[in-house]
Amino acid sequence: ELTDITTLLLSRIRDVADYPEPGVMFKDITPLLADPAAFTALTDALAEIAGGTGATKIVGLEARGFILGAPVAVRAGVGFIPVRKAGKLPGATLSQAYDLEYGSAEIEVHAEDLTAGDRVLVIDDVLATGGTAEASLQLIRRAGAEVAGLAVLMELGFLGGRARLEPSLAGAPLESLLTI
Ligand code: AMP
Repeated sequence: ELTDITTLLLSRIRDVADYPEPGVMFKDITPLLADPAAFTALTDALAEIAGGTGATKIVGLEARGFILGAPVAVRAGVGFIPVRKAGKLPGATLSQAYDLEYGSAEIEVHAEDLTAGDRVLVIDDVLATGGTAEASLQLIRRAGAEVAGLAVLMELGFLGGRARLEPSLAGAPLESLLTI
């Protein structure tokens, strides 16, 4: 059964070479989203992880983390919290800057959405260098909430994101359904 879902999910992810820039193998999940059996299987698997972590809230990382995280939150019966690129949320925000290969980026969350007592599971499609996920975990902690874990569809193991995230996960689980 485990192998079946792995095969199904893998078969619905399209590799696009040299996108968005030369040297990057982009993992395109749109074929998976368009296949209801695969999208349902993915949602079920992530919802099971959410249940296992005891998460009381799901954070989705813009933009594909929204698509994967929202149905998981509904299925798990917990709230969905968007973490967005800077400048998109209308209310009072907490923001976290992080370094990119060239330059830097900033993500934000509505300050009122995360509070002490929350156990937060972060969901995204692909874990690459771990920079985005690391910043989101820092945001959650700064809001006074607890990190329940990080769950991704796919981990690009050769980029070392898992090791980078060890300090910010502080023992919370990193679950990836597929590792490349
Ligand atoms: P990183 O901060 O390096 O872990 O990058 C993670 C973010 O960039 C995630 O939100 C992914 O959706 C996206 N990303 C990075 N590399 C890829 C890739 N090869 N294919 C698809 N998405 C990627």
